[in-house]
Amino acid sequence: MSKGMLIDTTRCIGCRACQTACKSWNNLPGVKTTFSDTWSNPRYLSSADFTRIIFREDLHADGTVGWHFIKRQCMHCNDPACVSACPVAALQKLANGPVVYDDSRCIGCRYCMMACPFQIPKFQWDSAVPFIRKCTFCADRQAVGLEPACATTCPTSALLFGDRQELIAAAWRRIHQNPGRYHPEVYGEKIAGGTAKLYLTAQSFEALGLNHQGFRTDLGETPQGVYGREWMGKVPFVALAVGGLTLGLYAINRRRAELAAAEAAAKHEGKEV
Ligand code: SF4
Ligand code: SF4
Ligand code: SF4
Repeated sequence: MSKGMLIDTTRCIGCRACQTACKSWNNLPGVKTTFSDTWSNPRYLSSADFTRIIFREDLHADGTVGWHFIKRQCMHCNDPACVSACPVAALQKLANGPVVYDDSRCIGCRYCMMACPFQIPKFQWDSAVPFIRKCTFCADRQAVGLEPACATTCPTSALLFGDRQELIAAAWRRIHQNPGRYHPEVYGEKIAGGTAKLYLTAQSFEALGLNHQGFRTDLGETPQGVYGREWMGKVPFVALAVGGLTLGLYAINRRRAELAAAEAAAKHEGKEV
C-alpha cells in the first residue's frame, strides 16, 4: 500500500517545527540563513534543508492581512523523473511511497537534478565528496513503523500521514464539507502522474504565486518518468561515452577521498586498513 502525506496548508501556522524536526531526524547541519522578503527562511531548499515553509501574505478586501504557509519538499512522485533519468539506479521508488537515494551507487552526473520537474534534488557543492540530498519521506522511520518526523511534530495536524488513496478521499471530503475554505483541487492527486505529497490550499498555486517556487501547474497528468526514459533514450552515444569518462574520473576521485578519510580515521583509532 503506497503511503502519502496530506499537507493541509489552511491548518499550517508557520511555526516551522517541521523544518526543525527534519533537520534533527536527518542530522542536517545548521546553516546561516536569512529571511526572504516574505519572511520565508530558509529561502531555498538545499542539501542541508530538505524542507521549508514558504510564507505568503494575503491582503483581504477589508484591509486586513492574512497569511498562507506552504510546506515544500520532494513530492515523491508515483513515476519519478529523477528515477528514470538516473543511469545507475541510485534513486529508486519504493513500493510504499518514498523515493530514496543510494550514496554508494551515485556517480555524480546530476541527471536527476535536471530531470526533476519540481527542482528538488540538491548537490553538496561545498563538499569534497559530494552527494545528492533531498527529503527521504523518512523512509528509515517508515521502515520501523514510525511516521515521518515532520508529520509527528506538527502541532496543528497540518501534515497527515497515511494511505495515499485514503488521504485523497479525506482531502475531497474536506473540500466538500467546508465550502469556501479550500481551492477545489488536491494538488498531487493527478499532476505529473500523481505524487505522494498531496496539498490542500485556500487559493490556487497560481494565485499564491508559487509557480516559480517549484509548484508547477503546467505539467499535465502524464507520469514524469516517461520523459526521463525518453530523454535517456535520446542521449547520444558519444555524449554517454564522454559523460562516462567524466563520471569514471569522478568515481575514482570520490573513492580516493573515501579511502583517504578511512585511512585517517583508522590512524586515529590505531588500526590498519
Ligand atoms: S522527480 Fe523530483 S519531486 Fe519527483 S520524486 Fe524525484 S526528486 Fe522528488
Ligand atoms: S518526510 Fe522526513 S525527510 Fe521529508 S521533510 Fe518530513 S521529516 Fe524531512
Ligand atoms: S509544523 Fe505544522 S503548523 Fe508548523 S510550520 Fe510545519 S506544517 Fe505548519
